[in-house]
Amino acid sequence: MQFPLSEYFSSFQGEGKFTGIYSFFLRFSDCNFRCGFCDTSDRLGKVNHMMSLEDIIKLLKDNGHRHLVITGGEPFLFPDQLHALQIATDGLSISVEVETNGSLDLKDPLRGMSNWHFNISPKVWNSDAYEDLYSPRKRIYKFPLSPDNYDATVAFIDRFEISSEEIYVMPLSATRKEYDKHAKFVCDKAIQHRWNFSSRLQLLHNFK
Ligand code: SF4
Repeated sequence: MQFPLSEYFSSFQGEGKFTGIYSFFLRFSDCNFRCGFCDTSDRLGKVNHMMSLEDIIKLLKDNGHRHLVITGGEPFLFPDQLHALQIATDGLSISVEVETNGSLDLKDPLRGMSNWHFNISPKVWNSDAYEDLYSPRKRIYKFPLSPDNYDATVAFIDRFEISSEEIYVMPLSATRKEYDKHAKFVCDKAIQHRWNFSSRLQLLHNFK
């Protein structure tokens, strides 16, 4: 089983519920969307590493990682690879987190991934693409927020009846300057709606 990756690396998880955990990141190479605001747009569609499952598990073990982040691009475009990882990591003492835009459902064999955590980051500016929203059991929803997309974000949350304790909002930003510009607005809205606030450590501290 080969994994078409744009990159793999070790770093701190910068966003969401597992912020601050030193993690091994696998970044799949492609996405079903092409969002105008995409911080990995330069890597979409490019396979820089074709890794075997055995190499991935060896790297995880050799580096003593306790947390694996599977990201993209869109990992759900690669269900066979996800399934293989599910089997290979079962029984290892690591937690697994998948970042997805939530527009694709998993194939049946993957529905049993009850021990994996999902960060669903819906693209509200592409909301026509969503008839349903993938909703696994262990999940949070991440929304990059700014004054420009606030109304669309609230409409999306209402449409799919997402509960506030599952929502993490973070400043919509590709740079530290944009992060600072939107941070207070996002904090205020998080307090107003009782959403969770997520920082973006990779921008604040120049993590990868
Ligand atoms: S869904 Fe995410 S990875 Fe895909 S194009 Fe949009 S921002 Fe980029």
